[in-house]
Amino acid sequence: MGEVVAEGVGDRAGVGEDGNRKGHENPFQIKLKNKKMVKINKEKCSGCGNCIEVCPFGVLEIKNGKAVVKHPEKCKKCGACMSACPNNAIKVNSN
Ligand code: SF4
Ligand code: SF4
Repeated sequence: MGEVVAEGVGDRAGVGEDGNRKGHENPFQIKLKNKKMVKINKEKCSGCGNCIEVCPFGVLEIKNGKAVVKHPEKCKKCGACMSACPNNAIKVNSN
């Protein structure tokens, strides 16, 4: 039984030794941040499509009658979608 515990610790130590690889995680984290740049409140969204029409970068898309953020990495935070939404369903994070 003691050996089993030792194996688990060994695995964790292996991950720790690959610390250098953490650098590769950064782009992924940035992507996640981008995802939060534009937020659609699905309860408020009526699926009118205004935001899709005004977005110059093709970030948004209508899916199942609601706007969704399809390409968050392309968002330039211009705010056009937010201004065009009649239901105040979009929030653009300017940070
Ligand atoms: S903030 Fe601008 S670039 Fe980003 S989704 Fe809205 S309209 Fe498109
Ligand atoms: S403009 Fe607003 S209500 Fe219309 S599809 Fe976009 S998020 Fe939904």
